[in-house]
Amino acid sequence: MGKRSELSDAKPHMTPPGPQAPELTLAAASPSRDHIRQIDRTAVQAAARELLRALGANVDAEALRETPRRMADAYAELLTPQPFQATTFPNDDGYDELVVARAIPFHSLCMHHLLPFHGVAHIGYLPEERIIGLSKLGRVVELFARDLQIQERMTTQIADWLERELQPKGVGVVLEAEHMCMSLRGVQKFGAKTVTSALQGLVRDDARTRQEFLALTTRRSHDQ
Ligand code: ZN
Repeated sequence: MGKRSELSDAKPHMTPPGPQAPELTLAAASPSRDHIRQIDRTAVQAAARELLRALGANVDAEALRETPRRMADAYAELLTPQPFQATTFPNDDGYDELVVARAIPFHSLCMHHLLPFHGVAHIGYLPEERIIGLSKLGRVVELFARDLQIQERMTTQIADWLERELQPKGVGVVLEAEHMCMSLRGVQKFGAKTVTSALQGLVRDDARTRQEFLALTTRRSHDQ
């Protein structure tokens, strides 16, 4: 728990990105190598059984007998990122334009309700001396999505990871997601999207680069 709580101060802004994107103060985000969660499946099963019972379910009914185990398996899967090697390469050709991966699908679990949120991530960076394989950008999203999350924190974690691994001239991350805790309960705004962004370096400070990144990432999904 302690390791996670230090991340909770990151403050990306919650509105569609604009020129006044604040400077992000990033505490040490979990590096992939330390990002290992211990899940006690036996305890999860026992707790799931208690939860079902508390919800008024007949946990001894045939149809529910395997449900605690299935719940434990499901949560374990949703909360365990696949380890991967963040291979980077020297930028030998001196590529100095934005690299953007658009509409990377993801799903995660909201830490406030343990309900899913899902959507797409747009990631861009302006290379300096290192570049990274495009498929790895999807893995980075996955790395931070398989966690009890809030969207704002996940956004800054991805940006911070790229900053640390690539030391690029700039980084931009935009997440658009629908939260089941908003769609299915409370205000019940079905289909409403929450947009978060983290812009750093020249993607934040250079007007042309920022415009280019935002133009590439704020197109409507059906335009992609
Ligand atoms: Zn929620």
